[in-house]
Amino acid sequence: MPRPILATIDSAAIAHNLERARSATRDANARLWAVIKANAYGHGIERIYAGLSGADGLAMLDFDEALRVRALGWTQPILMLEGCFGVDDYATVFAHNLTVVIHQFEQIDWLRSAVSQFGYTGRVDVYLKLNTDMNRVGLSATDFASAHEQLLNMPVVAHISLMTHFANADLEAGADSAWRQFGQVSAPILECQPQTECCLSNSAAVLSAPVTHGQWVRPGIMIYGGSPFADKSAADCGLRPAMTLSTRVIATRSIAAGQAIGYGSSFVAPHDMRIGVIACGYADGYPRHAPDGTPIVVAGVRTRLIGRVSMDMMMVDLTPIPNAQIGTEVELWGAQLPIDEVAQAAGTIGYELMCALSNRVPVQVLPL
Ligand SMILES: *Cc1c(COP(=O)(O)O)cnc(C)c1O
Repeated sequence: MPRPILATIDSAAIAHNLERARSATRDANARLWAVIKANAYGHGIERIYAGLSGADGLAMLDFDEALRVRALGWTQPILMLEGCFGVDDYATVFAHNLTVVIHQFEQIDWLRSAVSQFGYTGRVDVYLKLNTDMNRVGLSATDFASAHEQLLNMPVVAHISLMTHFANADLEAGADSAWRQFGQVSAPILECQPQTECCLSNSAAVLSAPVTHGQWVRPGIMIYGGSPFADKSAADCGLRPAMTLSTRVIATRSIAAGQAIGYGSSFVAPHDMRIGVIACGYADGYPRHAPDGTPIVVAGVRTRLIGRVSMDMMMVDLTPIPNAQIGTEVELWGAQLPIDEVAQAAGTIGYELMCALSNRVPVQVLPL
């Protein structure tokens, strides 16, 4: 009998959340880059592919992920969010018709070199990225126009779109300043080239920002049914969880008041209690730093983690579920327990928990 842990991916939830992203933009013509970096936020690109048919393009940053998407038969646009890491990457860009972000001058130089080195006579679409409040990657406001000018004069470049990435769109009015900076820098370009397309919004901006989004948006977390906000649940955003992580009770025991549980004896029973051992640990991707009290659902009833998370097991309080026994179903996060609540208890965000799902966890995909 296999260890009872299982992740279930709900294809219909992915499709629903994409549709939700589309309606949230309040622009029937807005097009969606579904962000599927980090192996679709841990869900598995191949596993969620069926649910992605409503997307207009797929965005990621690993070139091998782009190749996997093409191998699945995706013929629509693919956006490489960090662009090329060197000259050679352009060979992949040319061969597979990828759209690349240009966030620094070196990437323009590499493109020139690649054209002559590979004798490329086709064209590529590029996304020129402005740095706003993030100060991570992106051209400065002073360099933006000259980078645009260089690209305009390169025969290899087909369409040039303009983008930025919000640092604070999950906060009240957090995107306003970046949105204004983008507006100022892009205005002269849009005046000369009014057909130029723009792309600004991540999930938080799609769901909240009173900004105009441009022709394309880039939702990520919301597609998987996670909330981008600390103070607003995914359900309140109209989203459905795409992943449910479940397991079962594999042992139960009764302990007396004063007895400790797990490594470090960090939890001491305040009274006689019955506990369950469940088959999930940090080697499955569950956060080891999740404290006592982190919510867990057993047989549909909310209870709590007690003691330190071990590699392959952890313990739960069975006080509210007296009938629980070996084989009783447990949900770590998903349909009954929002991943964001677990993340919050563990001092992190749903994004990190999703991405950390370990390879050893078997995955079942519910078809559309
Ligand atoms: C990850 C990412 C997104 C998606 O962000 P979410 O918060 O998951 O919606 C959009 N744009 C860029 C550049 C990203 O790196």
